[in-house]
Amino acid sequence: MASLAERSRRAVWHPCTQMKRLEDEPPLAIVRADGPWLHDDHGRRYLDAVSSWWVNLFGHNHPAMREALLAQFERVDHVMLAGLTHEPVVELSERLGALTGLGHAFYGSDGASATEIALKMSAHSWRNLGRPGKCEFVGLVGGYHGETVGALSVTDIALFREAYAPLVRLSAALPSPDARAAESGEDAITHARRCAAALEAYLAEHHERTAALIVEPLVQCAAGFAMHDPEYLRLARALCDRFDVHLICDEIAVGFGRTGTLFAHSQAGIRPDFICLSKGLTGGVLPLSAVLTTDAVYASFWDDRASRGFLHSHSYTGNALACRAALTVLDLFERDDVLVRNEHTARRLDALLEPISRHHAVRNARRLGMIWAFDIESDRPGFSGAYHRAALDQGLLLRPIGQTLYFMPPYVLDDDALAHLAGGALRALDAALAT
Ligand SMILES: *Cc1c(COP(=O)(O)O)cnc(C)c1O
Repeated sequence: MASLAERSRRAVWHPCTQMKRLEDEPPLAIVRADGPWLHDDHGRRYLDAVSSWWVNLFGHNHPAMREALLAQFERVDHVMLAGLTHEPVVELSERLGALTGLGHAFYGSDGASATEIALKMSAHSWRNLGRPGKCEFVGLVGGYHGETVGALSVTDIALFREAYAPLVRLSAALPSPDARAAESGEDAITHARRCAAALEAYLAEHHERTAALIVEPLVQCAAGFAMHDPEYLRLARALCDRFDVHLICDEIAVGFGRTGTLFAHSQAGIRPDFICLSKGLTGGVLPLSAVLTTDAVYASFWDDRASRGFLHSHSYTGNALACRAALTVLDLFERDDVLVRNEHTARRLDALLEPISRHHAVRNARRLGMIWAFDIESDRPGFSGAYHRAALDQGLLLRPIGQTLYFMPPYVLDDDALAHLAGGALRALDAALAT
């Protein structure tokens, strides 16, 4: 019998992967996952220090999650949400509304579909208000909002977009407030203001055609964990108000406590017109995304004519099991005082990561909440792949983005896991630089 890895290589088209590479580097076959640990079919264990692509919050196989999902499965597994409703979707919508001040939750299954929903809702809302010319979008340099054709129009990452450029209606990408790009003598806040001035100039010229600005609040993760001062979000909010442009906050990666607050935008004290949620929404166990918006946007669709309604749908919209998982996540945040506990965890890990922060090859060591990032200065070609392999040797699942090493671990790291992460990451760094 061929190994799982070999069968996978033949039968599965893996995401974000040049399949030819799997000939030399077969995928890890995971046979068991519990807490922050993944166990492969060779009996080795790996710390899931990237939260299985930024989705997992409370570790794998969490007892509360298992119990809640089994109980939900016995009542309602999935029913269509057009013309029907059920308790988990109602309660989740009520609780997300109470937490964000935005409501009317609309559901999809992935982050990219949340982006699509927000873009469509924004432009359709302006059309319903008699302003059909407002149908373009604007994003930031390095922005990432998913990879479906519509989402690619606001995703500014060449590697993901180039092959599809002819299919995509590209949006403008404005200067990112990435604090690392501050000019010498400039601090992060001054840099944020300069980038907001570029936004102002753009909107002054294009506001009549612009439906929405879409941003990843505080951290552009896929761009290599570019972090910015909340001042940018405050100024962007004011400019969007002034020019009648919606502000879409894509909290797909940064929501649910990653930046230290439940949602990142609240650190700027602003209220967006749309919030996109996914990834941590279900604690990383089932696919679900949600878009929340204002009463004003909702009211612009309220009409006797079907064509003025938001007729978008996905088969699994509002899946009951996924909504139950999301409710369990919200319960755990309340029950376990997660944000406060994370502050302690983060400070403990900061101390353990000192040798990496001070490492001769490391630049721009930075942290926000439970996200750590380090830019590695090295001439070594293919640093990311070399680090990934060196980390596996240390029992760590880590995949640097280009030259940026980052940790985005689940929130359930005990002392053993913290020491394993910090020690292994340092040894992997020296090993990767030496090869
Ligand atoms: C991952 C991500 C998306 C896309 O979510 P998928 O579920 O992968 O489609 C969108 N925006 C941000 C900020 C993300 O990190």
